[in-house]
Amino acid sequence: MKRVRVAVVGAGVVGFSTAVCIAEALPSCSVTLIAEKFSPDTTSDGAAGILYPGTFPDIPLERQRHWFKDSFDHLLAIAQSEHAPEAGVMLSSGWQIFKEVPANKKPHFSECMFGFRFMTDEELKRFPDHKFGQAFTTVKCECSSYLPWLEKRFRRAGGQVEKRKVNSLQELSSSYDLIVNCSGLGSKTLVDDGDVYPVRGQVLKVEAPWLQHFIRDGDGKTYIYPGIHSVTIGGTRQQDDWRLNVDPGDTKGILERCGRLEPSLSKAKVLSKWVGLRPGRKNPRVEREVVQLQGRRVPVVHNYGHGGWGVTLAWGTARDALGLVRQCLHDMPLQAKL
Ligand SMILES: Cc1cc2nc3c(=O)[nH]c(=O)nc-3n(C[C@H](O)[C@H](O)[C@H](O)COP(=O)(O)OP(=O)(O)OC[C@H]3O[C@@H](n4cnc5c(N)ncnc54)[C@H](O)[C@@H]3O)c2cc1C
Repeated sequence: MKRVRVAVVGAGVVGFSTAVCIAEALPSCSVTLIAEKFSPDTTSDGAAGILYPGTFPDIPLERQRHWFKDSFDHLLAIAQSEHAPEAGVMLSSGWQIFKEVPANKKPHFSECMFGFRFMTDEELKRFPDHKFGQAFTTVKCECSSYLPWLEKRFRRAGGQVEKRKVNSLQELSSSYDLIVNCSGLGSKTLVDDGDVYPVRGQVLKVEAPWLQHFIRDGDGKTYIYPGIHSVTIGGTRQQDDWRLNVDPGDTKGILERCGRLEPSLSKAKVLSKWVGLRPGRKNPRVEREVVQLQGRRVPVVHNYGHGGWGVTLAWGTARDALGLVRQCLHDMPLQAKL
């Protein structure tokens, strides 16, 4: 029987997670991942990679919970296996602190994390500007290691990889039976989605091996995340800002804000500075449609728009996208499968 030819567009954490899920679960498909940029040049590569989800207004909470839990459990299993060092996945414990007590002190995803509790007054003493805090253990996934590890896993499952820009889905219609779009911010032009926008983020990597716990301000703009080789400190969330250059004003602001939370950072050496554009969208788009391409009706599964939570949700949305691919295969005319 002829195999169904599937193209996955995008080599970030969402694209590779989705491609691995499809290639491993559906041997009846031949899967090719196509992308303009690969590791280390994707947005995913520079993400701090801490698993901490946002909440989307129009997606049922149960579905969001699944996305997070599937991702958490998948990465936790890696963190606790012999693959952890190569895949760049580790457990990470620390504090999230708030200047004002939040309306929801115990968010829905707190049950998935380990040891979620409110901070004691004693613990909060070191953060005099903050009134409330949560302590928990989550997972940190460093994509500069995780993406190459996923690529190996994808190739082992028979997947193929191609480096090129796709200017229009039309280009893929004669060579593929099904397209999976994981192009992140690229979806703005690739599928003409006006709801996608950049959220600029700047971070610094510093050498501070004495720091073992993360500190995250509840506003999501200031954070200190110890990692395997360095500590990521940040950040900025600048909506509709397309600048990819490092901004010296942002660098100064990050060092000041993080230094207030962790004064010992004044002794840390700055190793690198990095800017990435998060693929912002009110809600991630994880859905299927049928598109008319050069006279053919081609099923397209979309999986993009994860904003500041792509590492956190990639595996969960990839599992969802796999389910949508299965539905497309089920609905395909018989001759496409023969
Ligand atoms: C400073 C910063 C810190 C972050 N920290 C975290 C964090 O701690 N936790 C977390 O969960 N998330 C974090 N994020 C968010 C996370 O980085 C993103 O949500 C995630 O990288 C999105 O993954 P993606 O695969 O959708 O997109 P990307 O990584 O941007 O990948 C998109 C892929 O699509 C390809 N592509 C696009 N258009 C085309 C085209 N036309 N043709 C061919 N290929 C195309 C690109 O080349 C690329 O390969 C952070 C982001 C930033 C900027």
